Amino acid sequence: MSDTTPMLRQALEYAKRGWAVFPVWGCRSNGACRCYKRKACPNIGKHPWTDHGFHDATTDAKRIRARKWKNKWPTANIGIATGATSGLVVLDIDSLKGGEQAMAALIAKLGRLPKTLKVRTGHGWHLYFEHPGGFVKTSRDAIGIGLDIRADGGYVVAPPSLHRSGNHYEWTPGRGFADGTLEKLPRRWLEELGRMGCYTDSTDRTDRAGPHRQRKTTQDDSDQRGHPTTDRPGRAPGHDLVERSGQPGSATPPTWSRLSANILEMPAKEFIKWAIARTIPYGPSQRHHQVFLFAKTLRGHPEISQWEPALLMKAAEAWYKAAVRNLGEGQIKASCDENTEDFLEGWENVHTPGVGIVEHAFAAAVREEPPKAADDFSDERTKRLLTACREMQRLVGDGQPWYLSTRHVCRLMPEFERPMSVYRILCLFERRGILEVVEPGSPAGRKATSYRYLLPVDG
Ligand SMILES: [Zn+2]
Repeated sequence: MSDTTPMLRQALEYAKRGWAVFPVWGCRSNGACRCYKRKACPNIGKHPWTDHGFHDATTDAKRIRARKWKNKWPTANIGIATGATSGLVVLDIDSLKGGEQAMAALIAKLGRLPKTLKVRTGHGWHLYFEHPGGFVKTSRDAIGIGLDIRADGGYVVAPPSLHRSGNHYEWTPGRGFADGTLEKLPRRWLEELGRMGCYTDSTDRTDRAGPHRQRKTTQDDSDQRGHPTTDRPGRAPGHDLVERSGQPGSATPPTWSRLSANILEMPAKEFIKWAIARTIPYGPSQRHHQVFLFAKTLRGHPEISQWEPALLMKAAEAWYKAAVRNLGEGQIKASCDENTEDFLEGWENVHTPGVGIVEHAFAAAVREEPPKAADDFSDERTKRLLTACREMQRLVGDGQPWYLSTRHVCRLMPEFERPMSVYRILCLFERRGILEVVEPGSPAGRKATSYRYLLPVDG
C-alpha cells in the first residue's frame, strides 16, 4: 500500500507527532461536498467520513493506512481530533464573521499571543496551541463573534485539505507543522476562557459536556454560513460596550464585532439557534433572567415576533433542552412547562425587542467611519448616535424597522446624560430625513419606538 497521496502522507506525519487523524469528506472542484448531498451539504468539506466522527481518530499508522480508509484518502480532507486526545487547542478565526476584529479586541484586553503554529483556512486562520490539561470546551463564538475554540470534543480540518473556496488549508511559513513551534496559551487567555465557561483545569466536566455530545453539535451545526450554534455557553447580557468609548465606570471592552450577515435575515429556525446560544444560562440562578432575554431577542425578529403562542412554546422548549444540556439536570430549578410560562410572560413584557442588536450596533459605531451626513452635526455624540443608527439598519437588513429606547442609548452612551437628550437628537435626525419613525413607542417608555434609517447604509 503506497503512502503516495499527499493527504495520506500528511495524515501519517500528523499521527507521528501524536495528533489523532481521521478522514473528512473533501470538496469537489466545483465547491460541492464529496458526500452525496453535494452542494446541499450543510458542512461542505468539513464533516467526518467515518461512522463515529473524530472518535475514530487515531495515531496508529496501520489503521490510517488500512483498507477501511485506503480509498478515502485520495479525495478526503484530513481531520485532526483536537483536545486532550492530540494535546491541542485550536483557535479558529473566521474573517467573514469578523473574527479578526474580535481577536484585536481580545489582544487589546488580554495581551499578545505567542507565535504558535498557524494555518490559513478558507477564510481565516487556525492557531494551534498546546492543550493546557483539564478540560477545554469546543465552542462557537464563545469569546467573540467569529472566534471558535476547537478543543475537547472537537476537531479541525488540517492542511493540505481543500476548502470549498478552492483554497487549500496551508501552514504559514515559519509557523508551520515542520518549521514552527507549538506554544502554550498565555495564562490571561486561559483565565478568559475560564470566565466564559470554556475552560476548567479539572476534568470533571467531561461527563456532561464531553466528546460524545460535542461531536453531535459539531456535525449538526458547524455550517458554512457560520451561524453561531447552540454549543456556545451563555454570557452576561448587555456585555458592556461602554469602555470602548472611553467612558468611566464600565467593565470589559466588547469582544463582539459586527456580523457579516444580517442576523435578522436569518431564517427563523436559524435565528432561534443563534438566540439560544446567546442566552443559554451559565449558572444555576440565571434561568429566569436568561429566558427573558431569550424572549426579548426573539421578539426582535420580524417573522418570529408574529408567531402564535403554539410555535413560541416550541422555541421555549428548545431553549430549555439546551439549558439543561449546558448546566446539567439538577441545576435548572424549573420544569420545561414552568420555564415556558416564564418565557411567555417575558414575551408579553418586552419593551425593547431584539436585545443584543442594539449593543452590536453601538459597539460597531465606535469602530466604523461615520456616514457622510454626520458632517452636518457638531457634537461627537450626535455623530456616533447617527453611526449607530446606520449600524442598526445594517444589522436588521434593508427596510426592516428596528427598535431603540432612549434609556437604552443612555446606558450605552453615557455622554448622553438624559433620555430626553437622546430623544431630541433622534427628532433632529427625523426632521433631517435621516430617520423615519415606523411605530411610536408608548409615552411612559414601556415600549420602544421603532425606526428606519433612510440613507444608504453603505454611505
Ligand atoms: Zn457533505
